Amino acid sequence: MAATKSRDHYRQIADEKLARFADGPLLHLIGGEAVASADGATFDNTSPVDHSMIGSVAAGDAADVDRAAIAASDAFGDWSQRSGKDRQRILRSVADLIEARADDIAAVECVDTGQTIRFMSAAATRGAENFRFFADHAPSAHDGRSMPDRDHVNYSMRQPLGPVGVITPWNTPFMLSTWKIAPALAAGCTVVHKPAEWSPCTASMLAEIALEAGLPPGVLNVVHGMGETAGKSLTEHRAIKAIAFVGESSTGSAIQAQAAPSLKRLHFELGGKNPVIVFADADLERALDAVVFMIYSLNGERCTSSSRLLVQASIHDEFVERLAERVRALRVGDPLDPSSEVGPLIHQRHCDKVRSYVQIALDDGAEVLVGAGDDDPESNFVSPKLFTNATPNMRIAQEEIFGPVLTVIPFDDEAEAIDVANGVDYGLAGYLWTSDTGRAHRVARDLEVGMVWVNSQNVRHLPTPFGGMKASGIGRDGGPEHSFDFYMETKNVAVAYDSHSIPRLGSVSP
Ligand code: NAD
Repeated sequence: MAATKSRDHYRQIADEKLARFADGPLLHLIGGEAVASADGATFDNTSPVDHSMIGSVAAGDAADVDRAAIAASDAFGDWSQRSGKDRQRILRSVADLIEARADDIAAVECVDTGQTIRFMSAAATRGAENFRFFADHAPSAHDGRSMPDRDHVNYSMRQPLGPVGVITPWNTPFMLSTWKIAPALAAGCTVVHKPAEWSPCTASMLAEIALEAGLPPGVLNVVHGMGETAGKSLTEHRAIKAIAFVGESSTGSAIQAQAAPSLKRLHFELGGKNPVIVFADADLERALDAVVFMIYSLNGERCTSSSRLLVQASIHDEFVERLAERVRALRVGDPLDPSSEVGPLIHQRHCDKVRSYVQIALDDGAEVLVGAGDDDPESNFVSPKLFTNATPNMRIAQEEIFGPVLTVIPFDDEAEAIDVANGVDYGLAGYLWTSDTGRAHRVARDLEVGMVWVNSQNVRHLPTPFGGMKASGIGRDGGPEHSFDFYMETKNVAVAYDSHSIPRLGSVSP
């Protein structure tokens, strides 16, 4: 997973690529043109590494969203009518260009988000894989089923919805955007993308790559800006047929209300408070590696992070002692340094929120075993934290902290583990470690989550369904069926053999 090139290599790329962001505002991309906001408004984008200015960014509002929605509507006819093979060819070219520029994308992402290069290198490459995966399925995207009965031939087909909106968060912005945009384009939809205001850079890089790869102007548009203005306008726009949203659960609720008057189709990937359950009979070496990886990778700013460790009481003390050693040894540092494991968190406001949980933990009676007082409050580098002796109802065991912070809760038996795991509002992912096959299946069945990994960290296989239950989301991504179902209408056509009877209302003869 670790990037093999040097820090100097990535630093040089970052300096080179970031120069353009300092050179005048980063503009919207609408109808293939880089354009300023209609009212000329901009906002500042700073780096979480040292709070230095990356550059100003066009701040879009309703007028800019309207321009982008019109461009996406105008481009829809041609794009949706093209053959699947044609869409496949172009999307494969997008994948090739992403791969060729993976270092550029990764380096810019590190400086813009604070995520470390060892993970952003992999995330950039995964962006290319996402495009290639959905490109492969583009020729069959419109396929349906044949369902003949005695009197009719029924056949179904899928048709792209039209222009759609994609709204993304800041935690792994490039990779997440490709995961939403690639299937929309493969299905034949056109897109207006509103990236997170704290991490705007790679969204523009993606749209430029797509244009260069031959995607027609207007098929992928980017409008930068705040959620409450640009994002809100996108969710309300009548020409936009659906919103694919990734972000906080509370934002999902707001979007549901904003989108209600225009009856939009919605797909939500929201927050999580995911349990990793370690039973005493597990392979504890592998479990320890996975527990550490699944909360302290990606700065803990990861929807599927295992932020609650449920550990069986009989192994609790020994496991936690070894865990604490590993957490103390995590390498926090420059995100462009391939040896760094944890980088700075995205924004001062987010750091304040994450750090506030130390006091919350103490107030609620938990112990802060690692990371209590090691932070410089002026810096975005947050030391990894380990909260122990927690009980299931404490705030640290219920709320999504979204940082390098793990809460440990002991349990006695399987029933209690399931109870505690399910006792939160969220239901995105669950991880469980046991050598008992029957138990693995029972617990996987009973966890109220959309995805379970047994004896594994989060390893994605792209055809599998991705998404959450409860406050963690609505709908599933993944595979051609889940993603395409969201971006397409399914139509059924029934054709009679002329053999069935038709009731003769109003006729004189019965
Ligand atoms: P956020 O909800 O604050 O923002 C996400 C996006 O929504 C941003 O682009 C923002 O500008 C926009 N937005 C905000 N208010 C809006 C509104 N009223 N209307 C329309 N758009 C609006 O989330 P965040 O802080 O950027 O990201 C972190 C959250 O994302 C965490 O809760 C995390 O769990 C979640 N997340 C979930 C998944 C998943 O797959 N389930 C993946 C990554 C992140």
